[in-house]
Amino acid sequence: MILDHFPRVSLAHLPTPLEPMERLSAALGGPRLLVKRDDCTGLATGGNKARKLEYLMADALARGADTVLTVGAVQSNHARQSAAAAARLGFGCHLLFEQRVTDAPDVYASSGNVFLDHLLGASVEVHPAGADMGAAMDAAAARLRRQGRRPYLIPGGGSNALGALGYVLAVEELLAQARVQGERIDHILVASGSSGTHVGLVTGLARAGVDIPVHGICVRFDAPTQVRRVYGHVEETADLLGLPAPPRQAVIAVDDYIGSGYGYPTPGMVEAVRLAARTEGLLLDPVYTGKAMHGLVELVSEGLFARNETVLFLHTGGAASLPAYEWAFAAD
Ligand SMILES: *Cc1c(COP(=O)(O)O)cnc(C)c1O
Repeated sequence: MILDHFPRVSLAHLPTPLEPMERLSAALGGPRLLVKRDDCTGLATGGNKARKLEYLMADALARGADTVLTVGAVQSNHARQSAAAAARLGFGCHLLFEQRVTDAPDVYASSGNVFLDHLLGASVEVHPAGADMGAAMDAAAARLRRQGRRPYLIPGGGSNALGALGYVLAVEELLAQARVQGERIDHILVASGSSGTHVGLVTGLARAGVDIPVHGICVRFDAPTQVRRVYGHVEETADLLGLPAPPRQAVIAVDDYIGSGYGYPTPGMVEAVRLAARTEGLLLDPVYTGKAMHGLVELVSEGLFARNETVLFLHTGGAASLPAYEWAFAAD
């Protein structure tokens, strides 16, 4: 099916800017670096989930839902943007959090995205690490139905085939923008979590017949696991669009920058967040883009990219969680 045929509500400020990072390029002594500013999608401080929610919320509307339910880590950016999308469209919003980061100071559970979730009117329930969040979602949905609500379940990170269409569309936007700005993009680097962003990029590039490697920097799962997860969703998304799936080799995952686990700070992340702030005035986040930037710094120093190549860093947002992670930067 043609992309235009999928219903979509407008939630994001598009197109997001495509900008050079000249001072960061110089600091790394590496390739030309560009940043695609999806931190500027505009939905309650922005981020990548806004693009996915344009398709997911259109589906929720089409199905006559009145409440969205979704799931994530306590400092989930996806939860915050879902709460904002719900508010914008007059839906209720209920969030289920899994306590994946267990030894953080109290501020982790109250500041940053959590503060914004409450401000945006969402209700919240918290489950311990390793809880069956699928079962918890089903139970919450059943409870809402008994109360006469019509819940719509959004998977973690908005990462199903429908959500990934947001990044299939983003590829069209990016390629058109690069053409107008006279940029040739040789590599794309992105944080790879629940996977929909990575999936949409890979599927969208294949659909456009453009061969640009997408380096997914893992933030949760090891590389073989993440390749399997991403590729499974690539197949579903290609199928939804009636396209052949690209080969499995199109999915690249790098798992050297996770540290002790999802949402746990690493020294390399702290340094990368500081570097982007001090060279480009760019605010990254501790969970996703900071680890992805750590990956970019290391991959440049390993010589993965030629000096005359151009690498696009997709800034997927997340700075809303910084206040909840101030302690991780305390040694500064
Ligand atoms: C969710 C998120 C990602 C990862 O995107 P996925 O589609 O879940 O892989 C990256 N960066 C930020 C800031 C996010 O909130």
